[in-house]
Amino acid sequence: SPYPGIMESTDPVTPLSAFDEVNSSVRAAASVLGLSDDLAHALCEPEREVSVSLNLRRDGGRIEVLKGYRVQHSGVRGPRKGGIRFHPSVDLDEVRALASLMTWKTAIIDVPFGGAKGGITVDPSSLDEHEQEEVIRRWTRAMVHVLGPHRDIPAPDMGTNAKMMGWLMDEYHRIEGFEPGCVTGKPTELFGAPGREEATGRGVVGVTLAALRRSGREPEGATVAIQGFGNVGHFAARAATEAGLRVVAISDVTGARHTPYGFDIASLTRPVTSVSELTTGEPMDPDELLGLEVDVLIPAALGGVITSDNAAAISAPLVVEAANHPVTAEADEILHRAGITVVPDILANAGGVLGSYFEWTQNIQQFRWSLDRFRSELDARMATAFDTVASMSNRYGCDLRRAAFIVAVRRVADAFVLRGQVL
Ligand code: NAD
Repeated sequence: SPYPGIMESTDPVTPLSAFDEVNSSVRAAASVLGLSDDLAHALCEPEREVSVSLNLRRDGGRIEVLKGYRVQHSGVRGPRKGGIRFHPSVDLDEVRALASLMTWKTAIIDVPFGGAKGGITVDPSSLDEHEQEEVIRRWTRAMVHVLGPHRDIPAPDMGTNAKMMGWLMDEYHRIEGFEPGCVTGKPTELFGAPGREEATGRGVVGVTLAALRRSGREPEGATVAIQGFGNVGHFAARAATEAGLRVVAISDVTGARHTPYGFDIASLTRPVTSVSELTTGEPMDPDELLGLEVDVLIPAALGGVITSDNAAAISAPLVVEAANHPVTAEADEILHRAGITVVPDILANAGGVLGSYFEWTQNIQQFRWSLDRFRSELDARMATAFDTVASMSNRYGCDLRRAAFIVAVRRVADAFVLRGQVL
């Protein structure tokens, strides 16, 4: 090493940061669309990043300093929209990457929102309920100058929930006055929308049906394996069963079960304590679920579960990314070469933010839709989003992930230029 005492890195390549990885997809789409490098660069960069320190008094009077963030990636298509997560691994790069993904996700489903994300570097299970309330209220006070129903609208994400969004709304109201549209994912008793909770899982099934039909397969009776039985996995299983699909395998962190006849999901009460406690079907090795011979595989638990190590074992011809980033870039390439269709996360799980959009529109109109209306609008818009991405994929002869970015980058770039943000 030229610097005494500093070892030279032995890493052959520096891995891309999460934000760099998103930007490489954006640049690839910009290049297909013939956009200039300057414009692509401008579309990648976040508009605003706010970092704050939140001082929390813990047991015994000790002061703990928590780092809090809000990144507003883009507001060219409307108020910025994105969740707030509580997780020990939250850092600025991760929040930037997630904020950028929200810009592209909201553009794909064509709602008048931009992209944002927030986070606090903390393990939520280390906080009691009073501390959780204190932390979310402090984050809101620190960020209120950049938030609002027409500026930036948070929502729950990993480690946060509807109850915490209620506290966020209450804190916002104390400072700015009554504005229930300042946050989404609220309890239904507090201006939340019935339908929002199930929206992500329902949307996953909407695109699954469209993808099956595109491949010439009638959905009726098609078999499905779902990894993860939390909010997304459970509602996806329920909607899939209602649509006539056969959910033959489900898993969660406690185990997996399998039945060739399909689970009667509607008869399961929620919350199901754990999959391993279910008495229907046979227990199976959770790792085997990913390789099952089914028509559709829905990873709905964690990121990075399909990797270069296990991608070759996937036999489902259709993988629908309900979780965020469940398929690594190398695995994506392997699936593509094997002729497996992957519906990308930014399209597949966009039902959540679509549901948030419906909640926001109802809040600002001070009007409530029926659950039926919520569901039919969600189904129609998810189907349209899928068709738009599928046509782009046909037009450019590329996979659905690249096509989704092309649709999104085209829309954001058009708005950016039309607003006169390029000199
Ligand atoms: P959740 O915490 O409600 O559920 C996660 C589920 O995954 C649980 O059933 C858990 O037991 C299971 N799980 C954890 N580790 C597992 C493992 N190793 N094998 C099998 N199962 C495992 O979370 P969620 O809200 O359902 O979110 C799931 C995924 O969807 C996440 O990637 C999240 O980012 C993404 N997502 C969620 C929403 C939403 O509206 N909730 C929206 C967009 C994307």
